[in-house]
Amino acid sequence: MTELWVYVELCREGIRPVTFELLGKAAELAARCGGRVTAAALGACDTEALIAAGADRVLLGEGVALPAEDGLQAQALAELCRRHRPDMLLLGATGMGRSLAPRVAALLRTGLTADCTRLDLDESGLLLQTRPAFGGNLLATILCPERRPQMATVRPKVFPQPAPDASRHGEVRREALPPLQSSVRLLEELPAPGGDARLDADILVAVGNGIGGEENLAMARELARRLGGGLAASRPLVDAGRMPYPHQVGQTGKTVAPKVYLALGISGAIQHMAGVQAEKIIAVNADADAPIFAYADEAVVADCGAFLRELLAAVPALE
Ligand SMILES: Cc1cc2nc3c(=O)[nH]c(=O)nc-3n(C[C@H](O)[C@H](O)[C@H](O)COP(=O)(O)OP(=O)(O)OC[C@H]3O[C@@H](n4cnc5c(N)ncnc54)[C@H](O)[C@@H]3O)c2cc1C
Repeated sequence: MTELWVYVELCREGIRPVTFELLGKAAELAARCGGRVTAAALGACDTEALIAAGADRVLLGEGVALPAEDGLQAQALAELCRRHRPDMLLLGATGMGRSLAPRVAALLRTGLTADCTRLDLDESGLLLQTRPAFGGNLLATILCPERRPQMATVRPKVFPQPAPDASRHGEVRREALPPLQSSVRLLEELPAPGGDARLDADILVAVGNGIGGEENLAMARELARRLGGGLAASRPLVDAGRMPYPHQVGQTGKTVAPKVYLALGISGAIQHMAGVQAEKIIAVNADADAPIFAYADEAVVADCGAFLRELLAAVPALE
């Protein structure tokens, strides 16, 4: 039977949503190949939620005191893989997943496709791992025919969260891990700058190079606050140090899937749009020929500052 594993990423708030997105996808693939989905966790977590999202089994590796540094978690996950020999191992392309996955792949001497945007199976059941290549101009489908597990990371929000099915049943299995050694000691966890990006919000106000000065940026931030949304940015603003990296959307930033993406002064470069999977895009740009208008559901040819002033006047201030 094909064994599909999903790494359960834990954070202070519990299980990261990308875990559920991957479980939903793994369950879909398992249904097609007659496989079994295992959620592999390195700490206590809500096992019922994992099963409701698609896991047939939850494997709880015990013995790693969390939070643990990435190298230690990689050793623990690799140890579980050595014992059970999964065919596939999926991780979120989050900060943690991007650090963990290559370490696990190196320990297991297997391949890894990072930042996949599509996963499928070929007729023999091999995992087809598709990701953008050459600056997003090509989509490359990568296979790992010989080594196991076939490993892939997938960005948050690429797959939808499955609706939880409380009627699902699954096994919960605890496994003691041997004492693991690390030369790194985790002293303290500090909040990352830009933790207020809220890129998982339903409404995103996104600012680009055409946003103008600090006054306009402050208005965009205020609009996001009044709408209860998040604040996204294109890469030039991050490169210029005007916005912290966690706000960046695109090929080298985050993938977002809001209901509404309000793009202010963003040209619509392919590398930016690669991260935008919005239900509705409203684009504001001074140039009527800006490429973003080809993606937009609503096109506003206007100056960002003037647009923001008018919109803020219409959206009441919240307390
Ligand atoms: C390998 C690689 C990876 C990359 N990854 C990313 C990524 O993850 N995310 C990302 O965003 N980019 C990424 N880029 C950069 C990308 O190619 C673009 O350069 C970038 O997205 C452009 O950002 P922008 O649209 O904000 O700026 P610009 O291209 O400078 O566009 C600014 C826009 O604002 C408009 N404008 C100007 N003044 C006003 C005004 N007063 N009112 C309204 N509109 C106005 C202009 O008409 C223009 O359309 C990457 C590039 C490479 C090569």
